[in-house]
Amino acid sequence: MSRRFVAQRGATRVVFAAGAWEQVGTEAARLGVSRVLIVATPGRRAAAEAVAAALGARAAGIAAIAVEHVPVEVAARARRAADDARADAVLAIGGGSAIGLGKAVALEGRARLIALPTTYSGSEMTSIWGLTDGGVKRTGRDDRVRAQLVLYDPRATVGLPVGTSADSLWNAAAHAVEALWFPDVDPISELVAEEALRLIARALPAVVARPDDVAARTDALEGAFLAGATLADAGTGLHHKLCHVLGGMLGLPHAATHAALLPHVVRFHRAAAPRAMTRIARALGAADAADRLTALAARSPRRDLASLLGATPAATIIERVIDAVLAAPPPGPRPLDRDGLRGLLTAALAPGG
Ligand code: NAD
Repeated sequence: MSRRFVAQRGATRVVFAAGAWEQVGTEAARLGVSRVLIVATPGRRAAAEAVAAALGARAAGIAAIAVEHVPVEVAARARRAADDARADAVLAIGGGSAIGLGKAVALEGRARLIALPTTYSGSEMTSIWGLTDGGVKRTGRDDRVRAQLVLYDPRATVGLPVGTSADSLWNAAAHAVEALWFPDVDPISELVAEEALRLIARALPAVVARPDDVAARTDALEGAFLAGATLADAGTGLHHKLCHVLGGMLGLPHAATHAALLPHVVRFHRAAAPRAMTRIARALGAADAADRLTALAARSPRRDLASLLGATPAATIIERVIDAVLAAPPPGPRPLDRDGLRGLLTAALAPGG
């Protein structure tokens, strides 16, 4: 029996099932929306057209213009498209880039957000929006960007390339890990984060070995759902801060940066966050959380930080990143100082790190 469930989490109705996409027409009708603008990345136009066909008369246009980190110019184009279409809903099909663009539309208009996630970013479960202006990304939380409807369809993720899938699962794992060491994390978030990590750790090698295995994709997507819920309910710390600084400063790809850094940040926090380490290790079925994540990373088709940086000289980057982190230090289990952060980044930048 394949995994299926329907849940109402706050304002968000969640439908999880192989074939959930086939319900998009009836679910849109249930939500009471009649003019749906579909947003996607340019490469996913065909999938957006298939969803438009399934929506029938409710489809009011397609804007396949999403790119990573939601540049303000792209957000403005999508808002114009929503106005022109007199949209009362914006449906994002794809990963965090498409969902981020849908959120930018929902933030400043009357359209409600629907998400059909096809990566493991978890953005569909959060009220966090982001906009990039002149290389600087601003983020905030706002209930207007909460998805009203999320359709999780593991079959729709089968085509996600193996490398993108693995990076995206590391992104999901990072949400759960950082929830576990977030100050005053509540016990429900801890339980959800631990289960998210258990599913993600099981899914990662299976998806890499058999990307078209719907059972592996089901574990991965359920793990991403739970990880997104922890990101929504708890918060983020040093790991997400480093990823955002590196992404904003150097344009590094978001999920791949998470994959490159997570084992190093866990090692950095190992002594300061024993309760989180116990839960991470238990979820991974290991004696030591950092060692197991390092071993998982070695078997994962991820790139290390040095190869993501390419020709950029590491020494200058390290000090600029440390400056940015110390200018607005994130919450976390241990105090941050220049020497400690230099050690973390130097380890991450070692070949194969
Ligand atoms: P992405 O959305 O850019 O997708 C990665 C690539 O995969 C894209 O080229 C996309 O077209 C392609 N793709 C997606 N689904 C596919 C499929 N089924 N088949 C084939 N190709 C497919 O990447 P992402 O990592 O999901 O999202 C990154 C963005 O999301 C960043 O801007 C990040 O800041 C944001 N994000 C936001 C939140 C939040 O809560 N607001 C959470 C996580 C990530």
